[in-house]
Amino acid sequence: MRKPILIANWKMNGSLHANQALLVRLLTKIRPYRKAMDMAVCPPFPYLFQVRDLLGYTGLALGAQNASPAASGAHTGEVSATMLREMGCRYVLIGHSERRSMYHESSDDVAARFRQVRSAGMTPILCVGETLEEREQGRAMAAIEMQLQTVIDENGMAGLRDGIIAYEPVWAIGTGRTASPAQVSETHRAVRQFLEFQEAGGGEALRIVYGGSVKAGNAAELFQLPDVDGGLIGGASLQADEFADIASALA
Ligand code: PGA
Repeated sequence: MRKPILIANWKMNGSLHANQALLVRLLTKIRPYRKAMDMAVCPPFPYLFQVRDLLGYTGLALGAQNASPAASGAHTGEVSATMLREMGCRYVLIGHSERRSMYHESSDDVAARFRQVRSAGMTPILCVGETLEEREQGRAMAAIEMQLQTVIDENGMAGLRDGIIAYEPVWAIGTGRTASPAQVSETHRAVRQFLEFQEAGGGEALRIVYGGSVKAGNAAELFQLPDVDGGLIGGASLQADEFADIASALA
């Protein structure tokens, strides 16, 4: 049985004041759904400490939005996985499409970051997804397989199994354009088959969540798909009521 998981990706949003208001309301609103799923909040680095304190013993986990591919040393501006672990993080987003496209993180880079997060004892959430061009040219699955393969080459299937996969079509992120249930279903199934091909049982064991313009209004039809184990929520995670409605759709 794969336990559903809902992950809030705040991206580069928030302030001490706004975070507090958001979390206080959110923690009340999601209480009825807490036990039905794992939940994690990924704030920007400077707010990790604040969010850790606010989450306290609610059972919601702390996550980060990235980790350095290096263990330590002369990497100005980077944050290491062991530091994140020390701050109380349990999850780290890896290979988000905004990191890949805007900050030029290559697949090898992503694989090294994934390794650091695992070695530090946290769960990497590996984001994969095709661009609009790749989808239109019928190369969506080939692009996703390549992203997965680099991580498998570096970490092995045993390593990949320590993580969670987030399927996020690039064209659906922050655009208000969600992939259709048929597209999501087909892609999640294909990812499972690819992993199953790598290692018997590998595909069925891994949690695969969907991300890309998930809202209260479309969450139910996405989460009821058999191969969708939850969601990675960007914009809608900044509104407590909306996020709680998404949680209710997953519960
Ligand atoms: P979105 O972002 O929900 O705002 O589309 C999802 C993500 O980038 O993780």
